[in-house]
Amino acid sequence: FVVFDRVQKSYDGETLVVKDLNLSIGKGEFLTMLGPSGSGKTTCLMMLAGFETATNGEIRLDGRNINMVPPHKRGIGMVFQNYALFPHMTVGENLAFPLEVRGMGKDERETKVKRALDMVQMGTFINRRPAQLSGGQQQRIALARALVFDPELVLMDEPLGALDKQLREHMQFEIKHLHESLGITVVYVTHDQGEALTMSDRVAVFNDGRIQQLAPPDELYERPQNSFVAQFIGENN
Ligand code: ATP
Repeated sequence: FVVFDRVQKSYDGETLVVKDLNLSIGKGEFLTMLGPSGSGKTTCLMMLAGFETATNGEIRLDGRNINMVPPHKRGIGMVFQNYALFPHMTVGENLAFPLEVRGMGKDERETKVKRALDMVQMGTFINRRPAQLSGGQQQRIALARALVFDPELVLMDEPLGALDKQLREHMQFEIKHLHESLGITVVYVTHDQGEALTMSDRVAVFNDGRIQQLAPPDELYERPQNSFVAQFIGENN
């Protein structure tokens, strides 16, 4: 469904921060990019989202090369750590915005916004502004906004990084539930081993711009392919 085909990325024309990346992600899969800070995970997500272009290689979505397709035409939902909700808009307006951009009429927008808010149990918050919500509630709204236009693919970059442990675990459960009930494909970025291992179908362990190992969680535990993976998976567990 998503294919990175020999993708390389350099920001300065010299150093490659992503080195020859090959990765195929199946439809409906929950794939996590796990690795230390600076290993190239976010860069991969940005190329997939269309905010960065690959220096070499090809990224395909449903068989189509998307290198030249602008972000809003890729049909991809996105959630980031810092929420990025529009502060001057209400929750309802925040959710309606991506639908307006796509030219959807008012009645259909209202139906979709309501349905997305119900998905994250935030229906009664439609008229609040982001500043009047807790961190966890804001993140739920960000999640609803990523899902409101029925994307087949959702990208999440450290979406729970700003939340405390208890809320983080609760939200992990909710995201997993939404993934399963909606049948969407999720590409998730984190440096938290526990989070990657509990949520994912497969984990791509990144270091220094390369995938060190790509495997389901139990296999990473039982058969780490090299000392980096063994050490990184072992930390904090
Ligand atoms: P983190 O978990 O800290 O976000 P990461 O694994 O997602 O790390 P990237 O953000 O992809 O890593 O960064 C990979 C490398 O590319 C880093 O060395 C970083 O400094 C560099 N880099 C990232 N974005 C840019 C940019 N816009 N311009 C120049 N260099 C960048």
